[in-house]
Amino acid sequence: MQNLKVDIVVMGSGGAGLTAAVTALDYGASVACFEKRPFQAGSVSNCAIGVTAVKNDPRYQAAAFNSIFNYTNYNGDPGVIKAWINNTWRILPFMDKVGAKYKLRAELPLEKVGKGEAGGFPPQTRIGDAYYMIGRGKGHGSAIVALQSRRYFEAHGGQFFVDTPIVDIFTEGGKVCGVLAKHNKTGEEYKVECKAVIVASGGFGNDREMIKKYIGHNYTDNNCSNGGDVLFNFFPTETMTGDGHKLCWKLGGAKGGMGINGHNLVPGPGIIGNTPWIAYDETRVMEEQPYFWVNKNGERFVDESQSSNHMAMGTSIARQPGKMGYIIYDDDTREYLETHGPDFEYFIFQAEHLHDIKGQFERLAKLGNEHAFMTDTLEELADKAGIDKEGLLKNVARYNYYCDQGRDGDFSKDPKFMRPVRKGPFYALRVFNAGYSTVGGIKVNGRMEVINDDGKPIPGLYSAGDCMVGELWGNPPVGGIGNYSHALGFGFTAADSACEYIGIKEEEL
Ligand SMILES: Cc1cc2nc3c(=O)[nH]c(=O)nc-3n(C[C@H](O)[C@H](O)[C@H](O)COP(=O)(O)OP(=O)(O)OC[C@H]3O[C@@H](n4cnc5c(N)ncnc54)[C@H](O)[C@@H]3O)c2cc1C
Repeated sequence: MQNLKVDIVVMGSGGAGLTAAVTALDYGASVACFEKRPFQAGSVSNCAIGVTAVKNDPRYQAAAFNSIFNYTNYNGDPGVIKAWINNTWRILPFMDKVGAKYKLRAELPLEKVGKGEAGGFPPQTRIGDAYYMIGRGKGHGSAIVALQSRRYFEAHGGQFFVDTPIVDIFTEGGKVCGVLAKHNKTGEEYKVECKAVIVASGGFGNDREMIKKYIGHNYTDNNCSNGGDVLFNFFPTETMTGDGHKLCWKLGGAKGGMGINGHNLVPGPGIIGNTPWIAYDETRVMEEQPYFWVNKNGERFVDESQSSNHMAMGTSIARQPGKMGYIIYDDDTREYLETHGPDFEYFIFQAEHLHDIKGQFERLAKLGNEHAFMTDTLEELADKAGIDKEGLLKNVARYNYYCDQGRDGDFSKDPKFMRPVRKGPFYALRVFNAGYSTVGGIKVNGRMEVINDDGKPIPGLYSAGDCMVGELWGNPPVGGIGNYSHALGFGFTAADSACEYIGIKEEEL
């Protein structure tokens, strides 16, 4: 057993943890950061990443605040929303400080805040300037931010422990007074006396019971086999078991809203590699076209032109029987996609036109993917894909009628996306709700203090990042996301508040 004494302990070294650790250190606190994995960086350890930063200008900040608060239908916590928005500008000087490089992708004029194209997300969430983190070659941007942050932290006297999860947090007289951490391999224990703990342990994507209990999804694996109805399109799931959630709740912290930062994805082998940026074929583009989508009863359920808004598709799919949806098109549309090109494309997967779609479906079948179907008739398609035959035939006929009329009588979809489903072979992709991770669960106030059911803070206990980001969106946080900008923005705020609490920083009004 090793005994340590520091001012502040940080749990986790993702975007939130490292930002909080470096910021607290720079205020003059002694800080120890414990990480469960053998290396730093959390969810973004192998990704290029973009961030949003709202200008440090009250006009931009007010517009951004109004957009997000309105988007949540006033269910988000206004203090939490403000804390995030008003601290995102600090991301850039932080990057400069730790020596990470970034590039402006798109500046957002004031009149466009909360409006316009948001790269797969709802327009209301497009509220700041977009930057890319520069990595080596085409990737690893955020991994380099994390590496640089860790180097800065250690070079300035921070204590960093990898492979050493925090397993307990202690209080005395109701106030946080220490933690226990235990090395994964050696079993060596670290008992740390401290005045404050910042919980930045990410989501709980790898705790199947929590997913079922708090979000209602049945997570089996990323192939959605054996009745699975959600998948996680990321690699570092193994440590995302909601450790911080469980410890905060054990100490009396209230449960906040929990959800998945939903988007639409076809599960199974042959679709994406070990990060969502590695696409093996063009399925990612095929599955987001605004054509004919049905649920397993063969009923349409959304204006399909929303299909470029991944959040809208993910959440609407999650509402369907079996929590699944299907995009179906015919051979004329296959030809259209190959000659004319897709109508929608996610900015990451830009495709002028698609190639050998039949060959791609055959390849998926050979790989054993159970969610891609190609058949000569619609009846066969219904049988193979598990869609109600009668419902499908009826709704295809109805949709084709609307296409002929040039008017969508169900959802008023833009007529330019009305492509009939008539000529075999027919193609279907079964699509599920997917997330990078989970959203929220630890309830905090605008100072990132973990609060109890009465809204009172647990002295010395703070949280930042994916584990608390649900508070931004309301309860349940439908349509809510947890991203890198959130992690960083909340990391700054948690460090500010913890340093004020331990008396080394003056409290701001
Ligand atoms: C593949 C992928 C692509 C993404 N792309 C983008 C993007 O382009 N833009 C964007 O803004 N966002 C993106 N996101 C989302 C974004 O990365 C996350 O929302 C954000 O990084 C979360 O940061 P965090 O610090 O809260 O949590 P995490 O990064 O998940 O870090 C939590 C850390 O805590 C550790 N931990 C867990 N339990 C313990 C314990 N008991 N003790 C100590 N440590 C513990 C974990 O091992 C982990 O390292 C992406 C996510 C993924 C996975």
